[in-house]
Amino acid sequence: VKRDDCPLDKDELGSRTWSFLHTMAAYYPDNPTDEQKSDMTRFFHIFSKFYPCSVCAEDLQEQLKRTPPQINSQSQLSQWLCIIHNEVNKKLGKPEFDCKLVNQRWRDGWKDSSCD
Ligand code: FAD
Repeated sequence: VKRDDCPLDKDELGSRTWSFLHTMAAYYPDNPTDEQKSDMTRFFHIFSKFYPCSVCAEDLQEQLKRTPPQINSQSQLSQWLCIIHNEVNKKLGKPEFDCKLVNQRWRDGWKDSSCD
C-alpha cells in the first residue's frame, strides 16, 4: 500500500489538479467583472508555465494558444475546461467525459442524489 504522505506521481497530481481546476470553474461567477475575466485568463497562462509535469505543461500551452479560456461566465469556463480535459483524455486513450454533466460532477452532485 502506498503511503499518502509521499510525493505525487504524474497521475495523482493530475487527478487532484483536475479536481481543483473543475471546482474552481464550477464556482466562477455567472457574470464576472472585467478584472475577474482577465485574472482568470492570466491564471491559466501562468498555471501552464509552472505545472510540474513538463510534457503536460507544454501541451497545455499549445492548447491555450489554439483554444483560449472562455471566461465570460461559469457555464462557458466549465465547458471550455471540460473540452480541454477531454483533449487530454483522448491523447491518453481515456474515455471522453460528457460535458453536459460537468455541473453535476463538480458542483451540484448527481441527479440521483447519490452525493447527498
Ligand atoms: P483524470 O483525467 O485525472 O480525471 C479526474 C476525474 O475528472 C475523473 O474521474 C472524471 O470524473 C472527471 N473528468 C474526466 N474528464 C473530464 C472532463 N473532460 N471534464 C470534467 N471532468 C472530467 N498525463 C499524461 O500522462 N500526459 C499529459 O500530457 C498530461 N497532461 C495533463 C495536463 C493537465 C493540465 C493536467 C491537470 C493533467 C495532465 N495529465 C497528463 C494527467 C492526466 O490528465 C490524468 O489526470 C491522469 O492520467 C490520472 O487520470 P484519472 O484516470 O485519475 O482521471
